[in-house]
Amino acid sequence: MSSPNLTAEQIAFQERARAWLEANPAPETDLELPLSPLELATREQVEYYRDWQRRCYEAGLVGADISESYGGHGHSGCQSIANREMSRAGAPFLLNTVGLSMMIPAVLAHGTEEQKRRFVPKALSGEEIWCQGFSEPGAGSDMANQQTMAVRRDDEWVVNGHKVWTSFAQFAKHMILIARTSREHKYDGLSFFLCPVEGHPGVTIKPLVKMTGELGFNEVFFEDCVIDDSLRLDDVGKGWTVAMTVLTHERGAAEGAGGGISSVHPIERLIALARSSMRNGRRASDDPVTRDAIVQQAIAHEGLRQNARRARVPALNDHPMRLRMQQGVLATELEQSCARLGVDIAGARSTLYKHDAAAPENGYWPLAYMNSYGFTISGGSNEIQRNILGERILGMPKSK
Ligand SMILES: Cc1cc2nc3c(=O)[nH]c(=O)nc-3n(C[C@H](O)[C@H](O)[C@H](O)COP(=O)(O)OP(=O)(O)OC[C@H]3O[C@@H](n4cnc5c(N)ncnc54)[C@H](O)[C@@H]3O)c2cc1C
Repeated sequence: MSSPNLTAEQIAFQERARAWLEANPAPETDLELPLSPLELATREQVEYYRDWQRRCYEAGLVGADISESYGGHGHSGCQSIANREMSRAGAPFLLNTVGLSMMIPAVLAHGTEEQKRRFVPKALSGEEIWCQGFSEPGAGSDMANQQTMAVRRDDEWVVNGHKVWTSFAQFAKHMILIARTSREHKYDGLSFFLCPVEGHPGVTIKPLVKMTGELGFNEVFFEDCVIDDSLRLDDVGKGWTVAMTVLTHERGAAEGAGGGISSVHPIERLIALARSSMRNGRRASDDPVTRDAIVQQAIAHEGLRQNARRARVPALNDHPMRLRMQQGVLATELEQSCARLGVDIAGARSTLYKHDAAAPENGYWPLAYMNSYGFTISGGSNEIQRNILGERILGMPKSK
């Protein structure tokens, strides 16, 4: 069934997308695949997901909204439909998260014609992977405290500094980079660059191991790294403005160029786990406390689903970001409580981890539990999101 309020063109697009996804499931593989793009660890995994993104792109499911001049498909208002259909079909995530959801919106909003034609098509197809160089050891929540310096030298910039928590850097060709170009002004002293990283002189990438034992994060060091001025996005000193465009998209306040994270529906997964686990001498699925906890999760998931539907109806949105930001905060916290419940239901078996033959679902629940904490931090912590919701959207007094 089609969603309400769609135009005839959008309904036709939805039907085509659904039919394509049914006829073209993701290829089966013996590879051990990660729970989300943030834990990609091997070249083989990257190539598997690159191939999937390319197929989706060629089928029109990636870059649906974007002009054909920049490699898109030119179907206005269709990307959110493609995203929903991919999620509904349980399709794998799209590899180039940063490219699709952060770089492309920033380049389309702030870039030159040449930058749009150069970078957008290859990010859509997955040929060129992007990473995000915002966080530094002393600049996370206080993002404007950037210490990485870019110093002008004729038509070039010389970059020195240290980024951290950089997901995908080990597989990325380019980085969206925010750097300080003046120490005189905190915000107006920042500029934004489309920085080459793969094999680029002066760039060193060092992987970091997570508590799950997985890779994903990196530290990136810049030592006299030279960038051409044609790779600066927007004016010198406008880096903060560009970064806000990126964060608006990263924080779920707008549709990106495609994709999202999809997986087996968590409630179905919890029910299957309860059926195969024991509690107080009987199946956990027959235990009233466990049943009630799963129903509470199901109610919260349905609430979020309805919230997402409301967010798509302009008349119900007094502020363009309110519902979408709420959604980001609540969805990531629900992810945590869902994984915590899974660990609880599996009981002592939750201590069995990946590659232990006796571990339920090959250690999925302890892995999901540990990884779920990153989701409430990665796009700016939920404490910061709550500050923004309170101060900028609800108009409450600023915290000291
Ligand atoms: C899985 C994952 C992937 C990531 N990927 C990337 C990436 O690809 N690129 C990138 O640039 N960064 C990335 N990050 C980094 C992420 O953006 C930062 O971790 C985040 O912005 C928080 O910064 P911080 O870690 O420096 O914590 P801090 O800013 O030091 O904060 C520490 C704690 O203090 C709280 N706090 C700080 N200030 C306030 C305040 N004003 N009010 C209330 N509470 C406050 C925070 O909420 C947090 O709980 C990633 C992080 C994670 C977890």
